[in-house]
Amino acid sequence: MARGGFEALDPCVHCGFCLPACPTYLATGDESDSPRGRILLMRALERGELPATDVALQEHLAHCLGCRGCEPVCPAGVGYGRGLEAARERLAQANGIPRLARTILGVFRRNSRWRPLLTLARWFRATGIPAALSGSSRIGFGMGMLASSRQDRRQVGTSGLTVLPSSRLPDLPTAALFRGCVMDTLFRHVHDATRRTLEANGYRVVEVPGQSCCGALHDHAGDRDSARALLAANAAAFAGKADFLVVNSAGCGAWLRNGLSETSAPLPVRDITELLAEAGPRVGAPLPLDVAYDPPCHLEHAQGVRDAPLAVLSAVPELRVQRLPGAERCCGSAGIFSMLHPEMSRAVLDDKLATIIAARPRPAFIATGNPGCVMQLGAGLRARRLEIGVVHPVELLDESYARAGFYHR
Ligand code: SF4
Ligand code: SF4
Repeated sequence: MARGGFEALDPCVHCGFCLPACPTYLATGDESDSPRGRILLMRALERGELPATDVALQEHLAHCLGCRGCEPVCPAGVGYGRGLEAARERLAQANGIPRLARTILGVFRRNSRWRPLLTLARWFRATGIPAALSGSSRIGFGMGMLASSRQDRRQVGTSGLTVLPSSRLPDLPTAALFRGCVMDTLFRHVHDATRRTLEANGYRVVEVPGQSCCGALHDHAGDRDSARALLAANAAAFAGKADFLVVNSAGCGAWLRNGLSETSAPLPVRDITELLAEAGPRVGAPLPLDVAYDPPCHLEHAQGVRDAPLAVLSAVPELRVQRLPGAERCCGSAGIFSMLHPEMSRAVLDDKLATIIAARPRPAFIATGNPGCVMQLGAGLRARRLEIGVVHPVELLDESYARAGFYHR
């Protein structure tokens, strides 16, 4: 049975195998920025040996990406992520949540707040100003993140109405699309590609009203009450609506998969690549491109979904897919981490960018299944003036299907 809270840290034998897998330890070389060091800090917090007000304790735990890259390499099965959740909840109860994080989380607590703000951001993106101002300064990087959320039209076409497969039958498996907040405003092209590719693989996609932000950001920051309230609202909205809840954002998927499995009417949560992989997926038309697959931490480590994205990409003939060294390490995005801790976030990103730059052949696209990763990697590549696009894997399959004539967009 899974151990909850601080108890999940019990098996740690302090061997240090997790250190080379930790992006923040690699960035600073400081043991207190490593999983092993943070576990000692969390245990001291639990036992009252360090007060929750200890500044160094707060700082080292705040600088953890929550990427859980330390979990799969741990021979003792330490549940680092569950320990971190418990520690952050205790810190939030004792100290409150820092003002900037509180403001951001407050926006995402209500649809009436995030929707107009992100819609404005989408309009601003359409002016082309964010793309023109993207760069390596703090503002330039933020502009690059927004610009990178836009569909890359070099290889991936425009979205539009789907011509549905004529073979559609009423007893097809149904998948309710989780729309989310950032995905539903800045990444609608990924939702469109999700719907089209699922339908082309024999699923019926169901739109469910009454959805909200998933609450994963709140959970990561220790605001468990808001996280649970948003989870409950989504559980009520989706109850009985479909065979699966399909998610194309790894961060949302990790939180929903865990949370919705514990509700009274559990709905199986699947990443889009899992549903497509289960269906085959159908093979499309060739796309002769070099692509590097970069797995989101919350897909690979938190949900254990490793092969399905590669199965999706392998359904595209002539796509040359590579997995770069260190691909399993976080890109530094980590929800709102990149806004709260930009220096650490950029230091972690630099490590990944160096690998991408050194890759031969150099990829034309990075494929990754999480909006934060798309924006973080995209902004980093723009800051270096590198002509490498960042897309969701399903966009490549969608393009392949459109070229094969499975549907018109
Ligand atoms: S978390 Fe696991 S890998 Fe890291 S020090 Fe503890 S037992 Fe070793
Ligand atoms: S969750 Fe990520 S950043 Fe935090 S200790 Fe583990 S590997 Fe390091």
